[in-house]
Amino acid sequence: MPFSTTSPLTGEPLAPVEATPVGSVAQLVSRAREAQAAWASKPLEARMEAIYRVKDRILDAGEEIARVLRTECGKPEGEAWTAEVIPNADLVEHWIEGIEEALAPEEVSLDPMTYPGKSGAIHAVPRGVIALITPWNFPVAIPLRTIVPALLAGNAIVFKPSEHSPRAGALVAKLFEGLLPPDVFVLVQGGGDVGAALVSSGPDLIVFTGSVPTGRKIAEAAARALTPVSLELGGKDAAIVLDDADVERAARGIVWGAFNNAGQNCASIERVYVHEKIAGALVDRMVALTRQLRVGEDVGPLTTQQQLEVVQRHVDGARELGAEVLCGGKATGRGLLFEPTIVKVTGDEGRIPLMTDETFGPVLPVVIVKSEDEAIRRANDSRYGLTASVWTKKTSRGEQLAERLRAGVVTVNNHGFTAAIAAAPWSGVGESGFGVTNSKHALREFTRPRFVLVDKSSAKSELWWMPYTPSLVATVKAMSILRSASRSIGEKLRALIMLLSNAPKRLMGR
Ligand code: NAD
Repeated sequence: MPFSTTSPLTGEPLAPVEATPVGSVAQLVSRAREAQAAWASKPLEARMEAIYRVKDRILDAGEEIARVLRTECGKPEGEAWTAEVIPNADLVEHWIEGIEEALAPEEVSLDPMTYPGKSGAIHAVPRGVIALITPWNFPVAIPLRTIVPALLAGNAIVFKPSEHSPRAGALVAKLFEGLLPPDVFVLVQGGGDVGAALVSSGPDLIVFTGSVPTGRKIAEAAARALTPVSLELGGKDAAIVLDDADVERAARGIVWGAFNNAGQNCASIERVYVHEKIAGALVDRMVALTRQLRVGEDVGPLTTQQQLEVVQRHVDGARELGAEVLCGGKATGRGLLFEPTIVKVTGDEGRIPLMTDETFGPVLPVVIVKSEDEAIRRANDSRYGLTASVWTKKTSRGEQLAERLRAGVVTVNNHGFTAAIAAAPWSGVGESGFGVTNSKHALREFTRPRFVLVDKSSAKSELWWMPYTPSLVATVKAMSILRSASRSIGEKLRALIMLLSNAPKRLMGR
């Protein structure tokens, strides 16, 4: 049984979950494919009417969502509401408001001289069946960011939540119960084997959020089948604190950015580069704020034992290589709780896994730098590139530095919360993957463009149709001269005469 069976917070047993037999996944995908055609052919208003009801369902289920996330993942109740309930209701509202315009056919302007009688438009066509595979860290918000716009666009979805948050996954499915035709939204439960079966069952698009190693496996399988894939992977976000930053705001913001969701956030701050001028004040304030955090209440547990071990290994490894642990540094021994930890790192970052690999836990390494150039260089020196932040009172300076940061999202005087904004694209570079969540750019992943051209020309033939008579060559040579900026007025006049005498012949097939 792949599922988590005890609460990471209390160790209490969790409700049993039934796994989907691996052998049934392909058939479930086929059934979704059959259902998808009818769903896509419904008027958009009908799809909007069904999905809009999910907004209130999310709000009404807020308490239940917070309770399940608390027991199954250990997430603090306040975080569940701010990250997984309220923004999801807003997400539904956002897509309902914008979907008609976003899916409206887009006319393509055609030159009437070259293409007489023709008009063309780009239509957004649903991909078909989307295989959606998600992690456990935001087990309600992450799937909904795909499910809501993808269903509105006319896709069917086969959704596999993480084996570490199957109960949250079931809650997501419940939000849609009775609103959709059968098989348009299918929940499959299980671990990597069920995920792999889903990937190889012929979906039309795979949307994956999770770790780099799994993302790589999925990309390889998708490449073999030529299935399009969207990958949102890990991160090693940097926060750069300039010499003029508001120390109190930066300290509070970075402590939140590092320790929310116990650091199990792809956009957790996992590296701070602070200017030497204010480093002392910032570090003292961050340590003081961190000491005030209540372990278990403000900072929840790691969700898995394996993650707890990674976190301990990173902290111990950094210490062995000379880093100084300023607060925290060890597991509490209660559930899977780990003390929020600040580490001052000196020396060669490249040798310290805490500075190069995703930790995904409540550990904040701080490096003191001499200049903003040094901070940018070190921040960009990473395999990952999800989000980054710059902290400065001169916001225009922050915006300028944003242009030099290798990241999909840059925030000035804030960090990492923009995944909650449905209109803002969330994306990465490098090993953070190339998928896009949220915004019209995500909708482009859930649809493909179909160009439809209608020809109302009454001409019997076209310029480029057979037979290839001398008038074809005369016409195209004239067209070429008329398009060229280097030809004289005289040459262009002669070409125009040539065009007017030959083009009509071509349109009659001569
Ligand atoms: P994971 O890769 O272990 O698992 C993710 C999902 O993939 C799970 O549902 C799992 O069952 C499934 N899976 C495992 N093996 C599979 C296979 N061979 N084929 C198909 N599916 C398979 O990731 P995780 O530990 O659950 O999540 C943490 C990771 O997710 C971190 O690296 C984090 O940074 C990343 N993440 C990224 C974003 C983002 O937006 N970029 C958001 C959240 C989490």
